[in-house]
Amino acid sequence: MNKAQSTASARSPTPALPSSPVETLEQFQQWLGTGPGDPLAEQAARDRQRGGETDASETDAAETDAAETGAAERGDLELVEAVPVGDPQQVREVSGSILDCYRVCDGHSELAGCTLEPRPLLRLTRRTSGDEIRHDWFGGDGQTLEPELIPRLGLDRLRRCEPRLRRGDEPVARQWIATAARAVVPIDAAGQARRRADADARWLAATVVWCRWASGTVAFRFGNAAVGRCSFAGWAIDFLHGRERPEKYRCPITGYRSYDLLMLGDGTLTVPAAVAVCQATEQTCWKTELEHCEVSGARVREECLVTCPITGRRALPGALKRCSWCERLVVPEQVAAGADRGPCCRDCREAEPLAEADPLLRQVLTTHPAWARYRRWRGWEDAERAVLIGQRWGGQLVVLWDRQQKNVRKYGKRGRFTRRWTWVPTQVSE
Ligand SMILES: [Zn+2]
Repeated sequence: MNKAQSTASARSPTPALPSSPVETLEQFQQWLGTGPGDPLAEQAARDRQRGGETDASETDAAETDAAETGAAERGDLELVEAVPVGDPQQVREVSGSILDCYRVCDGHSELAGCTLEPRPLLRLTRRTSGDEIRHDWFGGDGQTLEPELIPRLGLDRLRRCEPRLRRGDEPVARQWIATAARAVVPIDAAGQARRRADADARWLAATVVWCRWASGTVAFRFGNAAVGRCSFAGWAIDFLHGRERPEKYRCPITGYRSYDLLMLGDGTLTVPAAVAVCQATEQTCWKTELEHCEVSGARVREECLVTCPITGRRALPGALKRCSWCERLVVPEQVAAGADRGPCCRDCREAEPLAEADPLLRQVLTTHPAWARYRRWRGWEDAERAVLIGQRWGGQLVVLWDRQQKNVRKYGKRGRFTRRWTWVPTQVSE
């Protein structure tokens, strides 16, 4: 391999991985707590000495170090441990942020369990050029950390901590470092010792950073009874800063979710959005039980509504109009008053002519023979009732027949010269 090739190898491209803001080598060494005489400091001093020299001499240095090939690949870097400066270490630091999310009417929220589990992240630090260093971050799954997590989790301000890795964890940690190092400086299949050696010369340290992962349960207490729970899970620092919130309480009856909770008289824990007042009965009930009155728009319990027999629309009885002939409640626009009659529904107004032999008409006339004097019968019927309308000398007879009872529920008459109707609400025959 000639010099030009070596130089090209030494400058092997690295993938664009996220990194913390640039620090200087000196700042990093101060952070590491290393002093004079430390191998890292000596290496840095050598690097500084070489600062003004050419790429070719860097290559020479790489060749010198070639004996130590693959140190990073073996995960064999100086390993230190740290925590983010602002990362919560105690449950009490996050409990307020979690519990304060809930507003419990006449009760309160409390932690029914909370753990702050330290989860490791990996930072690999290497020298880039001159005194500049660069950090590359990896998650516990070995994947490159999302760049937005670095400021979010406070990874740009770390403090050294006592080792938490146990002796038995070390091989796993070394493997983690090795895999991550290969991701930062990929080594091709040919295993170029020179490249590897050069990469190794630039590695400074691996830092296992412990971030707390909060998880647990919130219970809602009313008097002595805990009713209802919610769980939470996320980075503790996210809860601390309100970027993460526990789950909303879900009403078991309606499925509505909220951070506002209230208890109903029957002990059901729910959320305000799930309950409403029926505008007809003024009772508090589930919002899912309410329907619209299709005439007035009122929100009422379903059982308060009746169905208009002509249109099928559901409405409060009070919002409907009663037909003076058939006595049914129908939507107002189906009722019209005429010069010769009171308010009357469309079915009654538009009743079809009946044949002389109509069985129902024969039945009615059999029980009330006097009505046989009327002619030009019209009528309509449903399962419950029939309306029969007869004419005589300009006068009119309307019979409301009860099909269930098989009798006349009422009848009304109007004379030839009067527009006034006389109604007889009995079964009296004429
Ligand atoms: Zn009618």
